[in-house]
Amino acid sequence: MEVYDKAELWDREAIAQCQTARLRATIGQASKSPLYKERFAAAGISPESIHSPDDVQKLPFTTKDDLRSQYPTGMLCVPNADIVRMHCSSGTTGTPTAICYTQNDLNSWADLMARCLFMVGVRREDVFQNMSGYGLFTGGLGIHYGAERLGCMTIPAGAGNSLRQIKLVKDFNTTVAHILPSYALILGEKLRAMGEDPAQFPLRIAVVGAEPYTEEFRQRIEELFHMKAYNSYGLSEMNGPGVAFECQQQNGLHLWEDAYLMEIIDPATGERLPDGEIGELVLTTLRREGMPIIRYRTRDLTRIIPGECSCGRMHRRIDRILGRSDDMLIVKGVNIYPMQIEQVLMMFKEVGQNYLIVLENDGLSDVLTVKVEIRDECFVEDMRVLQGLQKKIAGRLRDEILVTPHIDFVQANTLPKSEGKAVRVQDLRVKK
Ligand code: AMP
Ligand code: ZN
Repeated sequence: MEVYDKAELWDREAIAQCQTARLRATIGQASKSPLYKERFAAAGISPESIHSPDDVQKLPFTTKDDLRSQYPTGMLCVPNADIVRMHCSSGTTGTPTAICYTQNDLNSWADLMARCLFMVGVRREDVFQNMSGYGLFTGGLGIHYGAERLGCMTIPAGAGNSLRQIKLVKDFNTTVAHILPSYALILGEKLRAMGEDPAQFPLRIAVVGAEPYTEEFRQRIEELFHMKAYNSYGLSEMNGPGVAFECQQQNGLHLWEDAYLMEIIDPATGERLPDGEIGELVLTTLRREGMPIIRYRTRDLTRIIPGECSCGRMHRRIDRILGRSDDMLIVKGVNIYPMQIEQVLMMFKEVGQNYLIVLENDGLSDVLTVKVEIRDECFVEDMRVLQGLQKKIAGRLRDEILVTPHIDFVQANTLPKSEGKAVRVQDLRVKK
């Protein structure tokens, strides 16, 4: 197997050895911040307490609130002058947190990113167009430096502006794009509206991540553009993208265990869950010097896929992110994740590229409405056909989420679009 980095070929034993050594070093480094110094002292932890990767469980968790409490630079473990870059989390929920990087941190991050891209067949001959927002969001510079490190001609196109994106792809014959899932379909529609066939576009690979999407959504993207779409997972607190990435098998995302130590826990109890069970992903940085983070509660829900990947890499895989523990909706007392709704919607070919889940309360109980963009050609259908379709979608959704939603059809391109991560839920219920 051709790999970017020989660490990809390590067996479990080599990974465990590396994790143990790096976890020890990380504890030593993290102790330079007042927060960890105090916490390790309280728990009686030192680098010598670690004998295997499982010993990470002796360490305390770090939450988003901990990071906020140390904003802006309280978590630094190197002199300020050694910091060469900072990023912020996009504030998917709440106030942002700042992450600071040394040059070594940036180098190892770019290498991880290059490793991901190489794994799915990106090579230096490729032209890479980064359609994600630059600035504080890590999907810009993070992916950019990875593609450059691989030697690709890298176009910092930034987010939105479909006409310019299309022109750049055509003029420079872009073969690989980094794109938000929600934006991929919007771009495809734009091309169609221009009378062009997205399948004729030169793109052969897309790196798709930063927000949750379903397998059905991926298939739509792949079919639309006749290209391969690979899932890319990361978060600013762990550098950004490059934490976990799908290989060409497209069956789970390899999480780079030489750089991050992963656990899946029950979000309610904090107990570790066995492989295969869905829970909250908890991550520890193993290679960061500027701002190491121990047992970070990501709030992202996933599971470790049991067994080995047929690609031969031994770095374990996580499943696509199901959602965040804090984006679970409670509707009429039932727990619902937006991705369950997307999964059903995407099964209907009449459904277009955008949807919005609206929650209201009519004074008696919760009302769940799903606004669905449907394809222009379906709007010419007669009323009965449309009503029949509405009923079918509502029925399928009921089977999946156990609540019967109202289905509102709206015309293509009428729901609000965001340039960053898609906003899928509008909760208008009055909080008691
Ligand atoms: P940020 O730190 O602003 O880049 O946001 C990171 C968050 O984006 C993660 O914690 C996830 O909730 C979400 N995210 C990133 N990549 C993916 C992905 N491939 N699938 C689902 N959610 C993702
Ligand atoms: Zn694999």
